[in-house]
Amino acid sequence: MKKDYYQILGVPRNATKDEIKKAYRQLAHKFHPDKGGDETKFKELNEAYQILSDDQKRGQYDQFGQVFEGAGQGGFEGFNSPFGSGGFRFDFGGDGSGRPGGFDFSDIFEDFVGGLSSKKRAGERRGRDIRMDLEISFEDSIFGGKKELEISKIAKCSRCGGSGGEPGSKTKNCPTCAGKGNIQKTQRTFLGSFTQVATCPDCFGSGKRPENLCKDCGGRGVRPAIERLDLFVPKGVQDGEVLKITGKGEASLTGGAPGDLYIKLRVLSHKFFHRQGDDIVMRLSLKVSEAVLGTSKEIETLDGNIKLKIPEGTQPGDVLKIRGKGAYFSSGYGRGDLLIEIKIEIPKKLSRKAKEVIEKLKEEGI
Ligand SMILES: [Zn+2]
Ligand SMILES: [Zn+2]
Repeated sequence: MKKDYYQILGVPRNATKDEIKKAYRQLAHKFHPDKGGDETKFKELNEAYQILSDDQKRGQYDQFGQVFEGAGQGGFEGFNSPFGSGGFRFDFGGDGSGRPGGFDFSDIFEDFVGGLSSKKRAGERRGRDIRMDLEISFEDSIFGGKKELEISKIAKCSRCGGSGGEPGSKTKNCPTCAGKGNIQKTQRTFLGSFTQVATCPDCFGSGKRPENLCKDCGGRGVRPAIERLDLFVPKGVQDGEVLKITGKGEASLTGGAPGDLYIKLRVLSHKFFHRQGDDIVMRLSLKVSEAVLGTSKEIETLDGNIKLKIPEGTQPGDVLKIRGKGAYFSSGYGRGDLLIEIKIEIPKKLSRKAKEVIEKLKEEGI
């Protein structure tokens, strides 16, 4: 991913040192790993603050940062991570409750070429993608389930709806660009001096700014927020699988589309069941007599209690199969099997009477 340090700190490009410091303090407090925050995010914040709080580094970053980052190693990190180690990816569409869909390369690809494309550089950049891990129970991985998430992110300001103006405020010409929508900078570099025309960082090219800035976001149109989200985990998901929720990433700081949310699922292990492909495997201990003579047993499965017939002469290691009670196929339709591995308990201590019986079995050649 390209790193936009302004975006990471949630400040506009012309933010003062104090604004940067304030934004950093607020976010660092929120994402501090000691308080259960996101460590990656915290590191990013520190990196961003180190650059932007240093006049010289900030100047360099403003001048060259975008160009070099986009052409460099940038996009590949973003390309790989949505796939993670798991095999599948779902696209839930904008509302987070749609049906699973197919792969969506377009946005990842855009990240990759973003730094090279002049259109992208002209202001409208997507919000950052958010990546997070989520633990779910074994049961939820089989049957699906609803999870309530709380996500800390840069979100569209709810007071002004992203416009940056107080509700009802009129607009005026942007003071930064005098209403032109872009600004010219002449720069002297070792290659000679050249003039650069850039989209105005304050109005994102519109040439207009609100007369009264929004009280909540100070005119930025975005602010750090905690968003609550109901996630519908589809049935049949696997450990390591990544769910993608389009448009639920961070808000764009430049009037572009929001980023996406990628959730990597961690399926917690179950006391009795584990998954093997599309099948669910469990163990069942039988007494010697039950295995030898056969019996009927009530066993607990994820689908409730089931009566299981143990045939006469069941061997240790035998696998009994209950069809259609395994995991859902990744399509969501049809299920694998429940496999029951048989263990046989050999008693370690016998009563005198039991010993006599076993001695008799021995005489019988058993
Ligand atoms: Zn606002
Ligand atoms: Zn402007």
